[in-house]
Amino acid sequence: MNNKTDLIGLSKEELAACLKEMGEPAFRAKQIWQWIYFYGKTDFAEMTNLSKDLRQKLADNFTLNRPKIVTEQLSSDKTRKWLLEFADGQKIETVYIPESDRGAVCISTQIGCAMGCKFCHTGSQKLTRNLSAGEIVSQFMVARDVYNEWHLDGEKRMLSNIVLMGMGEPLQNYENVVKAVKILTDGEGIALSKRRITLSTSGIVPFIKNIDKDIGVKLAVSLHASNNELRSQIMPINKKYPLPELMQACRDYQDNHGGYITFEYLMLKDFNDTPAHAVELAALMKKYQINAKFNLIAFNPWPGCDYEPSSNNRIHAFSQKLQDFGYAAPIRTARGQDILAACGQLKSKKESENKS
Ligand code: SF4
Repeated sequence: MNNKTDLIGLSKEELAACLKEMGEPAFRAKQIWQWIYFYGKTDFAEMTNLSKDLRQKLADNFTLNRPKIVTEQLSSDKTRKWLLEFADGQKIETVYIPESDRGAVCISTQIGCAMGCKFCHTGSQKLTRNLSAGEIVSQFMVARDVYNEWHLDGEKRMLSNIVLMGMGEPLQNYENVVKAVKILTDGEGIALSKRRITLSTSGIVPFIKNIDKDIGVKLAVSLHASNNELRSQIMPINKKYPLPELMQACRDYQDNHGGYITFEYLMLKDFNDTPAHAVELAALMKKYQINAKFNLIAFNPWPGCDYEPSSNNRIHAFSQKLQDFGYAAPIRTARGQDILAACGQLKSKKESENKS
């Protein structure tokens, strides 16, 4: 049994306290922080500005764990997906979605998810546990390892953005998410700008008001319906925090944060994809005076789901309607179709393979 403490995921203050307990001066914590988060080192022996003695002491007492890559799949569209395993054997998915000159790493925040959205594969997998701050941060660190992007000039990075949008509801693991974002944005380490991190929520209203104050990242909301009744049919959270409350929370966030809010909208055939739904959606945004941008997402069906994808014509007409009302509404094609990129699918596939 390994009783060593993992340094990844400790706040700067916690790291400093560990070093202080070892009788080391405060600046050592800063040096080690840079080795971990700026240079991406996984071995204390490589921390060459520390004495050999200290390097040994660190190795005796601490670890710099990365989750293990169980499988890695590269889609024909260059989407890359990893199934990662943590020390206790639990697995999650992390996905890199490239654009032409940059890209976003989609990070998970929980093992499974308790929200039970009807269209979502992860929602059918039940919540096992929250991820720690270290487990959230280390997903991005694995991606940087794979793409060899430690201490690169920021302009040259492909892994330019993070979306907290993988498995799990980030606002149900708020404390660890806040801690992880603070590590990811710390200027002496990974130093990702807050503007490049988007937190996507299914709508846990009481926490939305804290996001700007606590971490200042961008907000995306999984909306997927143009009215309260429709949303309740596919997202159980809507019964607890109905659409009007969610819209008001978005408006309040916008008043503090400025900019726009992204609304994710999965295009489900005959359920939410008609021109009338688009009109209703635009009216909803107008009512709450929200600067909205819509991501229209082509649905990637999974075995056993109750919904079908909308036709291309429907999606384009829907997008055009929203644009007629002045809203950006890009269409996001389902990425990585050939590698089961809808969240939770790779994990399920691996589990069923293991069972058989
Ligand atoms: S869409 Fe997000 S919040 Fe809903 S069940 Fe899936 S992972 Fe959870």
